[in-house]
Amino acid sequence: MHNGNRRTDATTRRKTTPTMCQHQPPCPTADSADREAAQAVVHHPEQGWSLLCNGVLLFEDTGELLPDGRIIAPHKPLGTRHVITAA
Ligand SMILES: [Zn+2]
Repeated sequence: MHNGNRRTDATTRRKTTPTMCQHQPPCPTADSADREAAQAVVHHPEQGWSLLCNGVLLFEDTGELLPDGRIIAPHKPLGTRHVITAA
């Protein structure tokens, strides 16, 4: 697969750290209860996860991996369907 995107994508992502949010209004921090409302800066629906602007890795099953390494268990019911498939 050839990716048409140039390095701008990676460069933008690197600049987007929790303390350097460029969004208006600013995204909630990873410590905020509202952390899921942050803008997704990297989105991989085919892999079932998104990286939010505040550094939170948000999984499709609503589980979260926080920038400090904490793991939040999935907290929203998603039915019985299992979407995890080998790539
Ligand atoms: Zn932001």
